[in-house]
Amino acid sequence: MSKEAKGILDRLESKEADVFLRGAAADVIFECARCGQCCLGGAYTIVDDQDINRIAEGMGLAPENISETFTIPGPDNSPGTRMIKNTGPNNSCTFYDAENKGCTIHESRPAICRTLPMMNVRQGFRLTLYNHCLGASNLINALRAESENLGANRYHERLKSKKKVLKRLKIKLLIHILQRQGAKERSEAVARISGIKLPLDMDNLRKECLAYLLLSIDSKELDGYKYDGIKI
Ligand code: SF4
Ligand code: SF4
Repeated sequence: MSKEAKGILDRLESKEADVFLRGAAADVIFECARCGQCCLGGAYTIVDDQDINRIAEGMGLAPENISETFTIPGPDNSPGTRMIKNTGPNNSCTFYDAENKGCTIHESRPAICRTLPMMNVRQGFRLTLYNHCLGASNLINALRAESENLGANRYHERLKSKKKVLKRLKIKLLIHILQRQGAKERSEAVARISGIKLPLDMDNLRKECLAYLLLSIDSKELDGYKYDGIKI
């Protein structure tokens, strides 16, 4: 293994990386059920300059226009951080299309909307299981069903017994997150130095992630989770 690959692995073995990796694994499995809940009822959509520039490009407007028309100062008034206005029906995000239950700027939506509910990029990739998210509830149900049948899960056994398989999974998760963040060159560099083939085999990765979450998640988190339905 190259020195660079070893350096990456060492960082992924740290305690801080654990939460990041669980969030990344949940992100691989998560499927948005398009319930719209995260865009409704006073969504807390923080944006930074990068988000504003991307939205501006997507809408063909100047960043200053986006900032002035669609955002308000962020919670702590810190420079470079603002919040998208909630001017839609039921206090929904100004970019939410209530009729079609979708985001009108989906391609250029802010980073926080790309990563919630599984991760919060600005708070260090916490695994956040949002109680009003139908997709999170589906994920938890899949994990609960899988945990009933663990003995028959060969991915679980492989991850438990073969350190090398677990290490490779961690690198694949790092690559996945870099790709999600649009860091194409970095993701390719990590894959190259670690000898991981791209594109990632997502079907296989999903199965590994399910097993990995069951290895690493506290069962109390699973037991304690309750979906509270849509809240407006
Ligand atoms: S920007 Fe789009 S995805 Fe994000 S809260 Fe608004 S409508 Fe929802
Ligand atoms: S709350 Fe969850 S399932 Fe619903 S639209 Fe948002 S991410 Fe998708």
